[in-house]
Amino acid sequence: MSIKDKPPSGPRLIGNILLLLGGLFLLANIFLPQIFGNSTPQVPYSLFIDQVENGKVSKVYVAQDEIRYQLQENQELGEIQGQVLRTTPIFDLELPKRLEEKGIEFAAAPPARNNWFASILSWVIPPLIFVGIWQFFARRSMGGGGAGALSFTKSKAKVYVEEDSTKVTFDDVAGVEEAKTELTEVVEFLKNPQRFLDIGARIPKGVLLVGPPGTGKTLMAKAVAGEAKVPFFSISGSEFVELFVGAGAARVRDLFEQAKKKAPCIIFIDELDAIGKSRAGNGFMGGNDEREQTLNQLLTEMDGFAVGGATVIVLAATNRPETLDSALLRPGRFDRQVLVDRPDKSGRLRILEIYAGKVKLDDNVDLSEIATRTPGFAGADLANLINEAALLAARNDRKAVTQADMNEAIERVVAGLEKKSRVLSEKEKKIVAYHEVGHALVGAAKPGGGKVAKISIVPRGMAALGYTLQMPTEDRFLMDESELRDQIATLLGGRAAEEIIFGSITTGASNDLQRATDLAERMVTTYGMSKVLGPLAYEKGQQNSFLGDGMMNPRRMVSDDTAKAIDAEVKGIVENAHQEALAILNGNRDLLESITEQILENEVIEGPILQDLLDKVNLGDKVSASVS
Ligand code: ADP
Ligand code: MG
Ligand code: ZN
Repeated sequence: MSIKDKPPSGPRLIGNILLLLGGLFLLANIFLPQIFGNSTPQVPYSLFIDQVENGKVSKVYVAQDEIRYQLQENQELGEIQGQVLRTTPIFDLELPKRLEEKGIEFAAAPPARNNWFASILSWVIPPLIFVGIWQFFARRSMGGGGAGALSFTKSKAKVYVEEDSTKVTFDDVAGVEEAKTELTEVVEFLKNPQRFLDIGARIPKGVLLVGPPGTGKTLMAKAVAGEAKVPFFSISGSEFVELFVGAGAARVRDLFEQAKKKAPCIIFIDELDAIGKSRAGNGFMGGNDEREQTLNQLLTEMDGFAVGGATVIVLAATNRPETLDSALLRPGRFDRQVLVDRPDKSGRLRILEIYAGKVKLDDNVDLSEIATRTPGFAGADLANLINEAALLAARNDRKAVTQADMNEAIERVVAGLEKKSRVLSEKEKKIVAYHEVGHALVGAAKPGGGKVAKISIVPRGMAALGYTLQMPTEDRFLMDESELRDQIATLLGGRAAEEIIFGSITTGASNDLQRATDLAERMVTTYGMSKVLGPLAYEKGQQNSFLGDGMMNPRRMVSDDTAKAIDAEVKGIVENAHQEALAILNGNRDLLESITEQILENEVIEGPILQDLLDKVNLGDKVSASVS
C-alpha cells in the first residue's frame, strides 16, 4: 500500500469527469438536506450559555426545536469568527433575560421551508441514490486513488469545532503526574517554539496518550492546549468511520490545512485506533478502503508539515496501542508515547479533592478513606462517584453530601465496575500483592532482566491486576544465557510466591508461564543454548501465517526423538528456574511478608524506598547452590 495518492493520469480523465459528475450528484444528495437542515455544527447548550455570558454571541434565532446563533466577528483565537452554530434548547426561562442583559439581538427563527421543496427532493433523490451506488462501485473498481475527484468536500464539514482553549489546565488533571511532566515539554515548546528551534532541538511531532478509558487522556490533551494557550482542533477517529469513500482523507487534509494557518496549535485525534488499526491484520479480508485512505492521508500530513516548519503538534489518544499500525509509531510520527494510567491512592485523593470542591461536603466526609477504598478507579469513575453521591444527597433533601452518601455511591460505582472486572476483592488484592512482590524479590536476586524499579497493585489494562516494572540497566541488544535464565526465574517468582504463601495457585500467573515457556523454548530452538541439542536452529525464522492473523514460528522438520529432547530441555529450564525462585523466596520469607504489607498499604512502591527494601534480599548459599 503506497502512502501518497497518485495524480490521475491521461486515460483516466474521462472516467474522472464521470466520477466528478457522479460525485456532484451524490454530494447534492447528501448535503442538500443538510444545508436546509443541520449542516451547522451543533454544540452543547452549556457551551452556548457560556458563550452568551462571555459576550461572544452576536445574534440568536430561537425556534421550537433548535437555537441558531452567530458568534461575534471580533473573536481572538478559540472560536471561528462569525461562525453560525446551533444547539438544542432546553426549558430555560432565564434565557430571554440573559440575552437582554447582554444586549444580544434575538428573534424567532426564519419560517420552515415550503412543502413544494420537499416534494421535489423526493422526486430527485431516488435516481441520485442510484448514481451514488454506481459511483461507489466505479471508485472501488478503479482502486484507491485518494480523494482526487472529491476533494471539494473539504471545509464543508467543520466537525472540529475549536473549543474554548482557555478552560482546562493542568490543575484540572490529577493523579497522572508522570504524564504531566512529560507533556510540560510540549507546552513549553508551543509557548516558545523559537527557543527550541534556535538550539536545533528536534521537536516531537506526534505524542500518543495511551491508557485505559476514563483516565483523563482527552482531558489531558485539552489541558496541554489550555496551558500553552493555543487553539485546539479536536476530532475523533470514530467520526471517520461512517464517511463515504474519500471524505475521510479530505477531512484530514483540510484539518491540517486549517491547523497550519493557526500555528502554533494542537490537533487532537481522539480514539486514534478507529482509523489507525493495523493494516496487516485484515489483509486477507480486503480491509476497509476508507479507513486505509484516511490513515494514509494522516501519515502523509504528518510527514509533510516538518517542511513548512509550522509548529503544529498532533496529540492522539488510544486505549488500544497494540492494535495500531506500526507505520504510525515510526520516528517523526507518533514516536512519543505517554502513559496515562489509573491513579494510585494519593492520585485518587487529589482527583477526589478536585471534584469534591465542586459540591457541598459535610464535615464527616473523609476523602482519604474513600481513596483507600477505590483501587482500580479511573479519574472518570471518581468524578462519577462524587456526582452519584451529590445526587443521592439531593434526592434525600440533604444540604450537604455525607459520608453515607459517599459509601452508597462507592457501592453503586463498584457494582458497575465489577461487571467490567476491574475491582478486586480484599483476598484477590492480597494474592496479587504477594505475586508481584514475588516477582520483585526474585528479580532483585537475579538482576539479569534489569533493575526492579516499581511494584504496583493498581490494576492496569484488562488483564494485568498488578505489575512489577524492571528497567534495563543499559541499552542492550544481546543477552547472555544467564540473563535469560534470570528472566525466566523472575517470571516464575509470582507463581512461586503464591505457592509458598497460599499453597495453591491462581489463574493469574498464566501470562507469566506463557512468557517463561516461550523464552525457554527460544533458548533451545533458536539460540542454540542447550548443551543436549547443540547449536542448531530448530525454528525457521518468522513467517506470516496464512490467515494473516499473527505470526508463527514453524519448526523445522525434526525426528520424534529430537522433538522429545526439545520438550525435555524446555521443561528442564523452566523447572530449574522455578526451583530457584522458590529457593530465593523461601530464603527471604520475612522480606516477602514485610514488603507485601507495605504494598497493600500504599499500592505502589518505587524509587529509593523500594531500593532500600530490595537491598536486603539475602542471596544465601541455598540460592547459589541451585544455579547449575
Ligand atoms: P479518556 O479520554 O482517558 O477516556 P476523559 O479525559 O474523557 O478520559 O475523562 C472523562 C472525565 O473524567 C473527564 O472529563 C474528567 O471529568 C474525569 N477525569 C478523568 N481522569 C481525570 C483525572 N486524571 N483528573 C481529573 N479528572 C479526570
Ligand atoms: Mg477520551
Ligand atoms: Zn505475574
